[in-house]
Amino acid sequence: MVVCLSDSDASVPRGTELPGHGATFGAMLEEFNTAARLLDLEPGLWKVLTSPKRQIVVSCPVEMDSGETEVFTGYRVQYNIALGPAKGGIRFHPAVTLDEVTALAAWMTWKCAVAQVPFGGGKGGVACDPTRMSRRELERLTRRYVAEIVDAIGPDKDIPAPDVNTNDQVMAWVMDTYSMHTGATATAVVTGKPLELGGSAGRREATGRGVSIVAREAARHAGFSLDGARVAVQGFGNVGSVSARLLRRMGARVVAVTDWKGGVYDEGGLDVDAMIEYARQNQTVDGFPAGRPLSNEALLSLDADILVPAALENQITSKNAAGVRARVIVEGANGPTTPEAHRQLHERGVLIVPDILANAGGVTASYFEWVQNRHGYFWPEEDVNERLEAKMMAAFETVVKTARRYRVDLRTAAYVVAIDRVATVTRMRGMYA
Ligand code: GLU
Repeated sequence: MVVCLSDSDASVPRGTELPGHGATFGAMLEEFNTAARLLDLEPGLWKVLTSPKRQIVVSCPVEMDSGETEVFTGYRVQYNIALGPAKGGIRFHPAVTLDEVTALAAWMTWKCAVAQVPFGGGKGGVACDPTRMSRRELERLTRRYVAEIVDAIGPDKDIPAPDVNTNDQVMAWVMDTYSMHTGATATAVVTGKPLELGGSAGRREATGRGVSIVAREAARHAGFSLDGARVAVQGFGNVGSVSARLLRRMGARVVAVTDWKGGVYDEGGLDVDAMIEYARQNQTVDGFPAGRPLSNEALLSLDADILVPAALENQITSKNAAGVRARVIVEGANGPTTPEAHRQLHERGVLIVPDILANAGGVTASYFEWVQNRHGYFWPEEDVNERLEAKMMAAFETVVKTARRYRVDLRTAAYVVAIDRVATVTRMRGMYA
């Protein structure tokens, strides 16, 4: 089958002229370009795969509890849908921009391709500070945001999920708002729902479970065992806390945890379950009564075996990479390491398991939830966990093999795997009109 997606203008790499292009999308492009060069990707496909398919920006007026009207800017980006409906979370955070959401949607595209789940990549976000909003305000904002993007989402179009500062309750509001608009209860429109409402067993823990599985494999790859390994975790939301809990259960010693406010260090190992309870009550791990206080910056340069950045983008940068002493970095967050920092660390022999592989457990269990919703038949948690482990192991092995074959780092290898899969399908599907 020959489909012409090349053209004579070989002015790639590209992307700088696209709307929403900023530093975060630029970092994604840099990673993409390295792998696309190795694959000798045709210029036409290069353009297709570096262009977001659809970017939606909406204004969401919300009546606040005070009676005042506030207007929040919301985004939904469907980056690429070659492999299936767009898939990706919704985040609520003051720093949300079109640049960030576009980069995150692109990362979802590559993540779904690496994990071999039949989805494209999407992401959504609303620029707001949920820590300063009441539950009623959050509900009104969620419903208005969903109403604004309702025509663009759906079980076969685009399926949101939780992300930073959104949870199963927010997903329940998403599902209800969509269902009210379409006139029928549609559970498969969103994943990460409460169990009672069509959620999947194991979905909430899935990202952290995936992180812990690849951390175990990465340690083995780097020549040490998880047993007694010293782990430092940045971020204690869903991903950070579950990763810490499961790594501890696998025999590792979680010696440090920090979050947006601060954190703690204890050489003897922290009681992660007690920290989860403390964080639930205090919204932070800062002040947890153990060990000694630790700043975010100090955590990154800790002498640990495994560092798990599980907070936001751009945490390990060219400014602090020289201080990083971990042997293995497992990226629980999306985009925590900048391309320049990644280069420096890789040259120093640090093994970095990239986000699009390391945190793919979340979307993999989301895929299982979507399948269960469409079948109307639910699996026991053991089945979800077993299938998740199989998929994570398969993805890890494929990426390691690809890294060996091309003699590249794991990030470049993961991109090679992902781009190759999306490019192959795009060539097969050909060009419409
Ligand atoms: N927000 C998660 C991520 O970044 C999950 C996305 C999903 O399950 O669709 O991977």
